Amino acid sequence: MYKTEAIVLRGIDYGETNKIVTLLTRDFGKLSVMAGGAKKPQSRLTAASQPFTHGHWILYGGGKGMLRASQAEVIESFRSIREDLYKTAYTAYVMELTERFVEEREPSQGLFFLVLNMLHQIAAGKDAEILIRIFEIKMLRVAGIEPDLLHCTHCRKEISLAVRFSIRLAGPLCESCHDADPQAIWMKPAVFKLMRLFQMIDISRIGTISVQDEVKRQLASVIRQYYDEYTGVTLKSRHFLEQMDRYKL
Ligand SMILES: [Zn+2]
Repeated sequence: MYKTEAIVLRGIDYGETNKIVTLLTRDFGKLSVMAGGAKKPQSRLTAASQPFTHGHWILYGGGKGMLRASQAEVIESFRSIREDLYKTAYTAYVMELTERFVEEREPSQGLFFLVLNMLHQIAAGKDAEILIRIFEIKMLRVAGIEPDLLHCTHCRKEISLAVRFSIRLAGPLCESCHDADPQAIWMKPAVFKLMRLFQMIDISRIGTISVQDEVKRQLASVIRQYYDEYTGVTLKSRHFLEQMDRYKL
């Protein structure tokens, strides 16, 4: 039997009354769990199985078969996110990114609290776009493909600032190497500084970060191109976010 806190990354219907939920657990990493009866309105599992709900779970079984949920209780349902289209869209992206990047049964409390803190900060009404950028940068570390922002990616010299970022060489270029990759992206110094800050910042301690629109756009673009080159994942929820931005929904 397993007892753990978890966040529901996603749930898919299974049969008439069951759900298979993907949990990010605090103690056992990502797990797929059969939640029997989780589609029945009177089941206690129903509320706890909703996407991005934080709860206490008791699981049993396993071995070669799928784990089953015997009990689950809601700790926080994040109603303020559910009642807001934007917050829901950003949160769906956080859940999908986590689901796709994390292997099953690789426990990481750091990751669990990173995702949980994201939920709390989005719910609290912090700038979700900036939060998402921080999360994207931090997830590159989880995936083992984080760029080194302390050194020039070409000559390895330590740098304090960079105005070009090479996607192909996976990092910033110093002044003497800035043409090492003709396709390297030009960016405002603020973009580089934020990327560095975001690698280190603790999400639970973020106050107000005010960022110019142009800097936000460049930051999103650099990270987007980096993801496209190195992760090879397409995310439905990101497409929706981009549409939302484009049409200023
Ligand atoms: Zn260099």
